[in-house]
Amino acid sequence: MAWYCSGSSNKELVENLFSAGLVKSERVKAAMLGVDRGHYAPLQPYSDSPQPIGHGATISAPHMHVHACEYLINYLRPGSRVLDIGSGSGYLTHVFANLVAKDSSTDSTDGQVIGIDHIPELIDLARRNMGRSEDGRRLLETGAVKFITADGRLGWKEEAPYDAIHVGAAAESLHAVLIEQLRAPGRLFIPVESEHRHGAIGSLGLGSEGQYIWVVDKKQDGSIHKEKVFQVSYVPLTGPPEK
Ligand code: SAH
Repeated sequence: MAWYCSGSSNKELVENLFSAGLVKSERVKAAMLGVDRGHYAPLQPYSDSPQPIGHGATISAPHMHVHACEYLINYLRPGSRVLDIGSGSGYLTHVFANLVAKDSSTDSTDGQVIGIDHIPELIDLARRNMGRSEDGRRLLETGAVKFITADGRLGWKEEAPYDAIHVGAAAESLHAVLIEQLRAPGRLFIPVESEHRHGAIGSLGLGSEGQYIWVVDKKQDGSIHKEKVFQVSYVPLTGPPEK
């Protein structure tokens, strides 16, 4: 996967991701230009690499955030409802919000992104990170973005259904409860440990040790379509942290 898109500014990073063909949609490009990654990844803000954010978590590499946005883009419209599980730094939550929050040029209803993490300190960090920009503060104040401390393996059924669910940590299986919380139509983007390790998914892959992104669509008629798309390396979606 690409590591060559690093830039010396947010704009340069996004332009490099675009020139490399990773960012395809103009809407994704605009949403990423609207979030300064420096507010979320202070160590090497514009490097195309994952970085530690404390508490054993990492902010994913920019190109991984791009893949998530590109796979979900048709479900990230002004007015869409989104669940971001394992929200960590809050960066991707903010980018999603730029894609779904009310577009003042149209009459679209408000969209909302709910970020969930099970580490309360990271929920605080995500809120602080968003508070560093005027746009971010507005999204928090209007409720277009909400951060909740909870076990993301259960989703967040209180406010389901969601047009899009993103999972930012590797699950042991394709949690059925997350598919239940999708709208029809809706899409889930989730990294999952391979079936060889856990026997959880069935036998679609060849020699598939490791983690793979799965894209799960709930069609308008409620039918489910699952596709394994590419190999990745995420921190695990785990049980609650030790007190
Ligand atoms: N999208 C984030 C990824 C952070 S790393 C970013 O790019 O900043 C993965 C995150 O998943 C960590 O913050 C970790 O605390 C969280 N996580 C792991 N297991 C979880 C669970 N069961 N419920 C909620 N969050 C979880």
